[in-house]
Amino acid sequence: MAYRFEFRPYCRPFRQPLKTHHGLWQQREGIILKLTDDRGRVGFGEVAPLPWFGSETQAQALAFCQDMPPQLATDKAFSILPTLPACQFGLEVAVSNLTRRCRRPELAPAHCSALLPTGEAALSAWAPLWSAGYRTFKWKIGVAPVAIELAWLSQLMRQLPLGARLRLDANGGLDELTAHHWLSYCDRGGGRIEFIEQPLPPGDFAALVKLSQRYQTPIALDESVTTLDQLKMHCFRGWQGIYVIKAAILGPPSRLIQFCTDYPIDIVVSSVFETDIGRQTLIDLAAELATLLPHYPRRSLGLGTQRWLPCDGLDDPDWEALWQRL
Ligand SMILES: [Mg+2]
Repeated sequence: MAYRFEFRPYCRPFRQPLKTHHGLWQQREGIILKLTDDRGRVGFGEVAPLPWFGSETQAQALAFCQDMPPQLATDKAFSILPTLPACQFGLEVAVSNLTRRCRRPELAPAHCSALLPTGEAALSAWAPLWSAGYRTFKWKIGVAPVAIELAWLSQLMRQLPLGARLRLDANGGLDELTAHHWLSYCDRGGGRIEFIEQPLPPGDFAALVKLSQRYQTPIALDESVTTLDQLKMHCFRGWQGIYVIKAAILGPPSRLIQFCTDYPIDIVVSSVFETDIGRQTLIDLAAELATLLPHYPRRSLGLGTQRWLPCDGLDDPDWEALWQRL
């Protein structure tokens, strides 16, 4: 028994570049994997690297795919270096999709958090998203002086209807003093700020713990936990807050599931701007993790990112059609 292995790279320019504390992100590059077994069954997977979050680069992922033999023995376990976590994810997903038949229902916007544009543009961007059914919004902070951003936030909080919740994401871009400003503001918001994501850089673990103990608004770690080993380390060091899980760069999904089975944690499953193949995998994974973690809140998925990408056919739930576009 053998699989035929094929791959096709993709490149998707964002409709507008994504501005974060890491800089300006112009285009999403990745690779679609396709396995076909002897019975003609097909399994698709996706490699969506994010090198500034510690994953391999697109070039390294491509080199890996080019080195793969076109025929893979099915009786051998794949062993991929841990320095290629996005490839580990993509290949395991492709194998599991060989035997997966049912089509998933699309996720309702109410279960996703919608990414707002950074800065003042958020003020005019939330309303159509609210009309489309989104109730949780995410806004990047730490890109303008704190006084200006807090003034925008006040305006935004006045505009947002009751029932709307906001996630703030600093991408590690605050210092301790500004983090205090943000968190004390959030604490006065009556719980409408669901959490602040990564206020301080990953190296400031002790300061992050202190902040989390001092304020009621929860803190989520993202940049601190970009690999499964880092996730484990923070869990073992006693982080009691939320963990943002960018599963597509965390290695094989089975290892993540095993870890969350052994060590239950409060998680938000989050996108790195995948195509429909990666996206559906994350929806399935989130459902599986939710059943493993019944004692934690079922948080909206960080998947409200489709509007940032062009209508290029790569969000097509018909994956064979998606593949043919490449
Ligand atoms: Mg983040």
